[in-house]
Amino acid sequence: MGYTHYWHRPPTIPDGLWDHIQRDFDELVLPLSDAGVVLAGGLGKGPPEITKDVIRFNGPEECGHSANEELMIPYPSNDAEGIGPSSTAIDGDFFGVGVTVKHRCCNGSCCYETFTLEKAIDDSREEADEDGLYVDYVKTGFRPYDIAITCVLLIAKHWLGNQFVVHSNGADAQWSDARRICQKVLGYGDWFGIIEEAIMEETITKAGQDDERPDERHVTRRTLTEYQPPEMS
Ligand SMILES: [Zn+2]
Repeated sequence: MGYTHYWHRPPTIPDGLWDHIQRDFDELVLPLSDAGVVLAGGLGKGPPEITKDVIRFNGPEECGHSANEELMIPYPSNDAEGIGPSSTAIDGDFFGVGVTVKHRCCNGSCCYETFTLEKAIDDSREEADEDGLYVDYVKTGFRPYDIAITCVLLIAKHWLGNQFVVHSNGADAQWSDARRICQKVLGYGDWFGIIEEAIMEETITKAGQDDERPDERHVTRRTLTEYQPPEMS
């Protein structure tokens, strides 16, 4: 239900590629801060971890932003992007259970779910997908640090290619901030976009032991993709 990014990753990211990912994200920390995206440690306190083993951060718990009582379960509206105050964020209703917002904002604490990308995971703990990749995800509440998360995912996609698959609730507009910052600071970003496809999702409804039937519904799957720039002639 909450706004979520998903990624499929290899069990170990090779040294050289991890170095690129770590270095590129390191270069974004100050520009992100200048843009209003301040990063804290995984639990919202202390500095973010950007090391040879892990990239782990959250928004700061004590950020000084003001709360908005009406900001329950914020979800971006179609064109939502950027960051702004919570007082002007709400622009609609989200299926009667939450609100839609037109920009990222904070509700008195910029801290939400911890984002973690490890160089190597313990691959005994879960099953790989058909490509040998392991899935992970983070819900961001469309807090400001959502921009930093989309930057890390874009950077990892750039360096790992088809070994890193990103699905997201976010559409092109919600990825525009990461694209712009990565292009400006790192020289890549413009050629990333979100491809949308309609897929059937099957969920088993368990109404009782004799009444187990697949429940199908159409969902939109969004995938981060790096396009090939046209050949210069
Ligand atoms: Zn805040």
